[in-house]
Amino acid sequence: MVLDDLGNSLKGTLKKIANAVYVDSKLIKEVVRDIQRALLQADVNVKLVLELSKKIEKRALEEKPPAGMSNREHAIHIVYEELVNILGESRELSMKKQVIMMVGLYGQGKTTTCGKLAIYFKKKGLRPALIAGDVHRPAAYEQLKQIAEKVEVPFYGDNKEKDAVKIVKEGLDKFKRSSDVIIVDTSGRHKLENDLITEMTDIFKATKPDEKLLVMDAAVGQQAGPQAKAFNDAINITGIVLTKLDGTAKGGGALSAAAEVGAPIVFIGTGEHSVDFETFDPARFISRLLGMGDIKSLLEKAEESLKGKDAEKTARRIMSGKFTLHDMYEQMDMLSGMGPLKKVAEMLPGGFSGKLKDSDMDNTQDKLKKFRFIMDSMTDEEMNDPSVVRSSRIKRIARGAGVENKDVKELLKYYDMTKRMMKGFSGDRKLQKNLMKQFKFGK
Ligand code: GDP
Repeated sequence: MVLDDLGNSLKGTLKKIANAVYVDSKLIKEVVRDIQRALLQADVNVKLVLELSKKIEKRALEEKPPAGMSNREHAIHIVYEELVNILGESRELSMKKQVIMMVGLYGQGKTTTCGKLAIYFKKKGLRPALIAGDVHRPAAYEQLKQIAEKVEVPFYGDNKEKDAVKIVKEGLDKFKRSSDVIIVDTSGRHKLENDLITEMTDIFKATKPDEKLLVMDAAVGQQAGPQAKAFNDAINITGIVLTKLDGTAKGGGALSAAAEVGAPIVFIGTGEHSVDFETFDPARFISRLLGMGDIKSLLEKAEESLKGKDAEKTARRIMSGKFTLHDMYEQMDMLSGMGPLKKVAEMLPGGFSGKLKDSDMDNTQDKLKKFRFIMDSMTDEEMNDPSVVRSSRIKRIARGAGVENKDVKELLKYYDMTKRMMKGFSGDRKLQKNLMKQFKFGK
């Protein structure tokens, strides 16, 4: 996990709230001070830290928790929400046919990111291609060519040509029919100088890219803000890729500054290898940083000892129907440890087990593995709302996962069934408990 130090300090702070007997102004003030210290150490902008801490303090002291939520949960939730807010909006790239222009200064990880992006789209079932538009750094052509070979995507470049616009136009012509996502690498410079801006603008005019992604090294910390602003002023960037978040404790600067500019972070790079790349979702990022799962179970234990309540909040959320493919993905590990699906089905009311054919439940383990591949090929939008997955998307997802269309349909059927099961026993507390034990939510 990136930003370990920040994550650990924030986790410690939230645990303070979870373990407190009373949530009073003394505790809130102490917590806010802890958060300030942690964020400043991670290089988050001072002004932002002050605004954030003021907001947290005000909300935690003034707002009443909604019905059913304890003071502790409420305070933790406020901290979480405000941290998510400083990271800005989330944005996912579309799966349509498109041209993506990559820009950024030298050494930020632009060429590496081209390869990572190509893999990302390939996994989602699209056909990416790479064009080497960096005519100034001699090694750039060879580096991108090698990356293209390694990730097995088509490549176009001309290391004797000095006119970047000409190369890019030729490349686009070559790939316009055979590829869905054309990724154009452009030149970097040490500083954002006039000639770089002119070349970028020329390529931009000639190619009319759908996306203009700025690649920035997270270690630049607070410099990320002015850098992103300069690129944005020049070509109106549509998203930011923050690289090398693995190697810096100062990533908080770049993370928050990028959002300040108003350009969403779309991906983060967390290592040199092609797999070290993830889509960026502020809510998910903060949940992971704070270890929300741990905090939740801690809270549940505290609630139980204080009020004798049942610790089944996570389960209840899922049973209330808010069950997404993300939830299902997370549960795959638990499910695969549970043994045959039939066993689960037998515990359900309404004769669910009778409705399932034995053949449906054969080779559960193999199927779960296949399902994981399929879910890896889906976008966040599709994972959150699988109802958007219709025929053309099914084809794309199947291609990305290397399976047949019927396998994707089967996953969707399985998801529907699981969701119904979850809802089906929501009225029966004994069954609920039994099933939760199986899902290892129980104690
Ligand atoms: P460019 O000049 O912007 O094209 O930069 P490169 O793609 O050549 O990357 C510069 C260096 O940063 C290379 O050594 C990469 O391996 C490394 N790099 C790129 N992305 C990451 C990342 O997310 N994490 C780490 N640790 N290194 C990265």
